Amino acid sequence: VQAPPKLNQVNSERIFSEAQSLLPGGVNSPVRAFRSVGGKPIVFDSVKGCKVTDVDGNTYIDYVGSWGPAICGHANDEVNAAIVAQLQKGASFGAPCELENTLARMVIERVPSVDIVRFTSSGTEACLSALRLMRAYTKRDKIIKFVGCYHGHADSFLVKAGSGVATLGLPDSPGVPAGTTAHTLTASYNNVEEVKQLFEQNKGQIAGVILEPVVGNGGFIPPSMEFLQGLRDVCTQEGAVLCFDEVMTCFRISKGCAQEYFGVIPDLTCMGKVIGGGLPVGAYGGKKEIMSMVSPAGPMYQAGTLSGNPLAMTAGIKTLEILGRPGAYEHLQRVTERLVKEVVAAGQAAGHEMCGGSISGMFGVFFCKGPVRSFEEAQQSDTAKFARFHRGMLEEGVYLAPSQFEAGFTSLAHTDEDITNTVEAAKRVFARI
Ligand code: PMP
Repeated sequence: VQAPPKLNQVNSERIFSEAQSLLPGGVNSPVRAFRSVGGKPIVFDSVKGCKVTDVDGNTYIDYVGSWGPAICGHANDEVNAAIVAQLQKGASFGAPCELENTLARMVIERVPSVDIVRFTSSGTEACLSALRLMRAYTKRDKIIKFVGCYHGHADSFLVKAGSGVATLGLPDSPGVPAGTTAHTLTASYNNVEEVKQLFEQNKGQIAGVILEPVVGNGGFIPPSMEFLQGLRDVCTQEGAVLCFDEVMTCFRISKGCAQEYFGVIPDLTCMGKVIGGGLPVGAYGGKKEIMSMVSPAGPMYQAGTLSGNPLAMTAGIKTLEILGRPGAYEHLQRVTERLVKEVVAAGQAAGHEMCGGSISGMFGVFFCKGPVRSFEEAQQSDTAKFARFHRGMLEEGVYLAPSQFEAGFTSLAHTDEDITNTVEAAKRVFARI
């Protein structure tokens, strides 16, 4: 067993330590602080392609991709050039611009459920707006979400889910009124029977069901076809809205998102990440009948100072254009499948209990036997071992999401050589953890 390479983190440590007195926990979004894997986070200096470089000059093969948006590779030349050109004409208008129509058309053409779309500035905003719309449209208050699914940090979604059974929501964070989350019902992912029971117990009160059509926020957990189709059927039967939160999966799972990939069409779709090409964007869209409730077409209020800003629209347009070229999704599928297959095989060969999976450019591995079909099963993973694996990979020059319960992402910039290097690094790490 080789000793781990020594990782020089002097500047990262200094900057992160200074950040402690400036930002809560030193960060502007919690998972970045590496709390669940221990050790100090890497402070980035620059990104390019599938590589990130830190403030100490270390370069890593990156599988976080800014948590999803960097699907064309970081700082893609074409996306950058488009942004720079638009910048000369202004970054924010606060007035209609044609770029909004262009991106809207691309989304409507590609995403089966979307007839009309509203752009926001984050995934959180997209999801909380979709929630309000589900309620406004059905005139009902309750919603069903799944254990381990994340839909941004709006009050109603911050519910600590009970263990498997239908649980009345308890807030997951101080500051969230119990009265708010009392309307949030939870069920286990991939369990349509629990959902049917909740509909039974709350007849005529459930506005809709929201889910990640492929879970990324509990680690990578794919849905069963029975589950997705079951949810579609029960929502139709009960007059409830089926909402796919595709913030993570949109234009990543396939050209028409997870709904096209699985052939199950929701009523509403939330989007984000890839759709903004690295700039802050979210979106929600759906059937005309539902979307016509949104202000000013209809009475449901929702707005945004920077929504549809020309810079973000430009980055999104160029990103979707690149993803529309032949071979884009085939590339993502091929490199990601190879990565997971070879890493899991190497882990198992080294005596570790492991499983993993991928769809297109989204993947995950767990340190348990698997298969993992729900968040409860994901929690069987040996998270202490994951933390050692994460640290080891960092030392070997591979940047993974700093939590067992986050999916990984590849990009068009990941080459076979990057995958080979990652697998070789993983073999060295498996031998010493
Ligand atoms: N929904 C899902 C499925 C997400 O993965 C995320 C972000 N990870 C969000 C919503 C929230 O998006 P944002 O961080 O842009 O507010």
